[in-house]
This record gives sequence, structure tokens and C-alpha cells, in this order.
Amino acid sequence: MPVTIDPKTRSWIPVPSDNDFSIQNLPYAVMETTNGASAVCTAIGDQVINLAALHDAGQFNKTAIAAENIFKADALNKFMTAGRKTWTDVRQRLCDLLREGGDPALKDDVNLRNKAIQPIETVKLKLPVKIGDFTDFYSSKHHAMNVGIMFRGKENALMPNWLHLPVGYHGRAGTVFPSGFDIKRPCGQTKADDAQVPSYGPSRLLDFELEMGFFVGKANDHGTRVSTDQTSDHIFGMVLINDWSARDLQKWEYVPLGPFLGKSFATTISPWVVTLDALEPFKTNAQPRDIPVLPYLEEKSAAAYDIELEAHIQSEKLTEPMRLTHTNFKHMYWTIAQQLAHHTVNGTAMRVGDLCGSGTISGPTKDSLGSMLELCWKGTKPMKLPDGTERRFFEDGDTVTLTGWCQGDGYRVGFGKCAAKILPATPT
Ligand code: CA
Repeated sequence: MPVTIDPKTRSWIPVPSDNDFSIQNLPYAVMETTNGASAVCTAIGDQVINLAALHDAGQFNKTAIAAENIFKADALNKFMTAGRKTWTDVRQRLCDLLREGGDPALKDDVNLRNKAIQPIETVKLKLPVKIGDFTDFYSSKHHAMNVGIMFRGKENALMPNWLHLPVGYHGRAGTVFPSGFDIKRPCGQTKADDAQVPSYGPSRLLDFELEMGFFVGKANDHGTRVSTDQTSDHIFGMVLINDWSARDLQKWEYVPLGPFLGKSFATTISPWVVTLDALEPFKTNAQPRDIPVLPYLEEKSAAAYDIELEAHIQSEKLTEPMRLTHTNFKHMYWTIAQQLAHHTVNGTAMRVGDLCGSGTISGPTKDSLGSMLELCWKGTKPMKLPDGTERRFFEDGDTVTLTGWCQGDGYRVGFGKCAAKILPATPT
């Protein structure tokens, strides 16, 4: 079962109440170390803690991973593969080393502090996980309704299967990039409504999709299923996802088989993986079912998460970022447990490091929509920026930043930033 850290616990490292990285969080990432190697790390306040350095100093000697330093790695996969018992042991040990009144082994050792602690702004973070497969679901009913109304009309907005199963498609794992990696505008075939034939060139309708995703931390064998109540053993943690979408490429190519080049060029994720243990206190009831689901999709307890989400745009002319949207992960119709249960119901073997995206997270109101497609309603309602320009979709030079956090009593469990700048297309 997930292990939560008492809300009253405080760290000897200062953490402002609106900082993402409280001691209740303890997320995991992969950092580049000063000698050019890689190490698993966690964050607390404005500091990054190098777990490989802590392991070298014998700080995990009383855990099951004492023998091998699994934190000397360029991805979290080995740590994830070690399983839930190890996830729990490491979290508890970190909490003990970092909390006020805990084990002083790090706090009182200047040498170790110098080796293991670094200000967050000096650390380069990498893609945290070697991602095997990337699946993207389509689990927000508000989003599915909006897009359905735009393209099929109100009567046929939801496809007949939508309320019966979390629909999804297989994306491209090799083009998932960490926050900070600039995205080149994609090129491709598009066809204007009044044109006879398609033409080739840079996408003109480049969009974001505000999503969250989970990493599989425990594999299942071919032919077996993961039930909704096994989620906490099989899911390691969550990240923010910007699933970049070229709407003009997508519109022309996606029938009959679904998205291809309109999505495959780039997906950006946040570098910090927030564990289900840290998210446990923020569980909340899922949206009410419109119709009953089949037994394998039923859930016995609250399975949604209350996670505040925002997206901001920073153009080259804006003096400060402008908020595009503010929504919440709890608005999703299908939960991550249902997504994993459905993904494996045909006997699919999931592997450690597989990434599952939620699909665009749109809320019920006009200011809580998770894509420009919806915010500007297919380009019919342009958005005014304080620099005097307008947006229907993104321009070259725009930076899009996603943030997300759970609000506790006096502390936050946050995800950091998922940001990327759009560069001009390679000349055709
Ligand atoms: Ca998507």
C-alpha cells in the first residue's frame, strides 16, 4: 500500500509553502552530475539531492538495495524494477534523512552535504525514464464532447464506445522529450477544405494538449491482466505531458486509423516523476458514471486525483507569461486504474517504463480547456495577448509551460515545469 508522510512533517531544508517540492512529495528525476555521469535524484525546496551519492555513503545500507547502487543510472527503470517494497523503503529512508528531528547522518555531515546537495537551478535534468511504449488515452469527457461537437455535431459528439471503455492509441515513445527541449514546427501534408488536392509545408495549426501520464513500474506477463485494485503496485508515478499536435496534419490523415504524423513529431514531459505515495492524500471520487461499466472497469474506492493544472504561453514579445488555462485532473471521466486495467484486459504485457498519457484534460468551463483547438474553438475565437498579438494556434518563438500541483494544508506536492519553445520548421 502507498506510504504517505504526515502533513505536519517539515524538513531541515527550507521549503516555502507554495514550493512544489515539500517533504511530502519526494519525486524522482535523473540528473547530470558534475563529472558528466547520471544519477537518480529527488528534490526538496530549491535543492536537489543526489541519491547515488547518498548510496555511496552507505545511507541505504539498511534497505534491500544495499548491495548495488541502482541510483547510478541514466534512467529510473532499474529503481522502478526493484518493486514497491523498495519504492517504500527508499521513500521512508529519504524522509528520515530530510525531516526535522530525523536521522542527522546527512544534516550533520558537511562533506556528504557538499557531495549530495545542489541548488536546483544549477542542475540539468534528463528524460527520467527509458520509455518502451507510449500510449495516449482520450479520457476527458469534456474534451471528447468539445472535439466531437466541432467535427461531428452535438448528436454524434461521443462515439458509441466512449462511455464503455477508455479509448486510446499507440503513440511514439522515441519522440518523448524532457522539459526544456525545443520543438521544431512539423511539416507535412495538409488539405484546405476548398482545395482539390493536398499540399506540403509547415503546419499552421500547431497546438498543445494539457495531459498527465503515468509510468508503469511493474510488468505483467503476456496473457495476464492488471485489475483496478492492483494499481498501486503497477504504477510508479506520474508526470505532466504536453502532447504537441499539428491539427491541420491530423485532420487530413487521421481517418480511418487515427493520429500519425500530426502527433508523432514531439511530446514533452516534466522531468520529475511524482509517486502514487505522494499523490495518495489527494485521491478523490471519480466523476459519476453516466452508465454502468463492465466489472473489470469497476473501482472499489476513490480513484481520481485532485491535481490543479495550468498552462502558460510566453511569446517573444510578452513581458511575462500569460495563463492559457486552469483545470484539474479530477475532471477526467476515466481514471489511471481503469486505463491500466483496460490496456491489459486483452492480455497485453506492459513493461517497466511504459508511459500512458491521459488525453487532453479539459474541465467543464470555457477557461478550463486543455488545448488551443478548444480554447479558440477551432480558430473561430482568437485569443488576445497583452503584447497586442492574437493566437488561434501557436507561433514560432512561443514557449508553452505546463504546471501542476496538489494543494495540502500548508504544503504542496507539485510536478515542477513541463516547458518547451517552438522553433521554426526546417525549410522545405
Ligand atoms: Ca493527446
